[in-house]
Amino acid sequence: MSILSKTQTTSPKSLSASLTKPVLITSDFAVGSSNVVLMAGPCSVESYAQTRAAAEAVARIGGRVLRGGAFKPRTAPDSFQGLGDEGLEILRDVADEFGLLVITEALAVEHVPLVARYADIIQLGSRNMQHYPLLWAVGKLEKPVLLKRGFMSTIDEWLKAAEHISSRGNTNIMLCERGIRTFETATRNTLDTNGIALAKQLSPYPVIADPSHATGRADLVLPAARAAVAAGADGLLVEFHPDPANALSDGQQSLPLTALPHFVEEVGKITAVFGRNFT
Ligand code: PEP
Ligand code: MN
Repeated sequence: MSILSKTQTTSPKSLSASLTKPVLITSDFAVGSSNVVLMAGPCSVESYAQTRAAAEAVARIGGRVLRGGAFKPRTAPDSFQGLGDEGLEILRDVADEFGLLVITEALAVEHVPLVARYADIIQLGSRNMQHYPLLWAVGKLEKPVLLKRGFMSTIDEWLKAAEHISSRGNTNIMLCERGIRTFETATRNTLDTNGIALAKQLSPYPVIADPSHATGRADLVLPAARAAVAAGADGLLVEFHPDPANALSDGQQSLPLTALPHFVEEVGKITAVFGRNFT
């Protein structure tokens, strides 16, 4: 058999076959199934109006999950640190208005009970991937957890961090590749598509990609999202803002809400190649 005919017998759909165990977020919504899911919204919850605008836009394109940080892990201590409890209330309010689910970050062990009360998915940030007491704290819950890969962590360390969560009983885990630090400085991080594909092979957990933090540039978010889906990602966590130029965090990598329909249409073309819907 020639190389050409060998590749021709490999259908793209077979690339998405995996041992992934779906994580049920609610009775009618799972991550890690035949659908690729979108989790979209601002980097930070800044105000009621800003977050409501994001929720409305996500609902309008048929999205199910609203992202937004209330507790923000910021590199510089003098930059915006998030609205905290008030941010959680805003998120829940606007998500409920539009029938959306909420993903938001728990930055510290003491935030976990509060965040679990407001969120449908608890996000653990890149800087906290090896914060073991935090991993154990979410491990004691049943609430779905999205574990971001540390930007200087190996795939092995990432998977072992997930084991710290499951060791306490919670196996409702999603892994999230959000870019790693390399020698390259033209982009904020480097999207590790190898890591997406390998994590899918080595673990039963759905793998989400975050093309916003992986690139740090709004103009690269769509190409990186396409690549992540082609590598097998089960979902995308993407930053959208009503006014990126005036965002209080990560404006340079945030797409305007008006770009959401185009983004969904373009990514949907890639998911369709693999026989998956983008929701
Ligand atoms: C975020 O999602 O806004 C965030 C802070 O991400 P990370 O932990 O990947 O930097
Ligand atoms: Mn961000």
